[in-house]
Amino acid sequence: MKQKLVFATNNAHKLSEVSAILGDKIELLSLNDIDCQDDIPETADTLEGNALMKARYIYNKYQQNCFADDTGLEVEALNGAPGIYSARYAEGESHNSEANMKKLLANLEGETNRKAQFRTVVAVIIDGKEHLFEGVVKGNIIENKRGTTGFGYDPIFVPEEHNKTFAELGDEVKNRISHRSRAVEKLCKFLTLIQ
Ligand code: IMP
Repeated sequence: MKQKLVFATNNAHKLSEVSAILGDKIELLSLNDIDCQDDIPETADTLEGNALMKARYIYNKYQQNCFADDTGLEVEALNGAPGIYSARYAEGESHNSEANMKKLLANLEGETNRKAQFRTVVAVIIDGKEHLFEGVVKGNIIENKRGTTGFGYDPIFVPEEHNKTFAELGDEVKNRISHRSRAVEKLCKFLTLIQ
């Protein structure tokens, strides 16, 4: 029988990206699939803490094997900001990518060190045991937005060994090299090992 695993999200983009990596050995369930409409708290001060908090919430409430992710864009010249605040970097805004990018570009104005990385942490709980996996993609923040695909900070992030932004590279290339896919590939290897 297929192993069931809840992914603590309803984000269709993430669900399709992750189910493509996990393949058909695993039945991936979303929050909707388990009838969870809760606003799951993510109030920790690290990506690891937030991913664990979300996974523990689901495991404790539904007793189902599950995982959760948390991602941040960490900019070297800004001492790792926006980090855990990536979704709500621009004051008073949440998930407003335009406002977030505008603030980031303003904070980097005149800065020559444009190094940044996306970092994803996946926390998985299998039969009560917790495990963490990390995926990182390094790159640079450019000065003006380029490209139309993807989401979030994609139009201003150029991954290392490429000269296009994530928003220019398109979903297929991005999903192959992204922070999230690197973390989920580690999760996938782990699940194969314990099966
Ligand atoms: P989440 O933890 O996956 O919800 O990510 C938090 C925030 O980081 C998002 O709201 C985006 O602003 C940003 N982010 C996460 N993943 C990506 C990505 O692949 N490209 C661009 N921005 C991202």
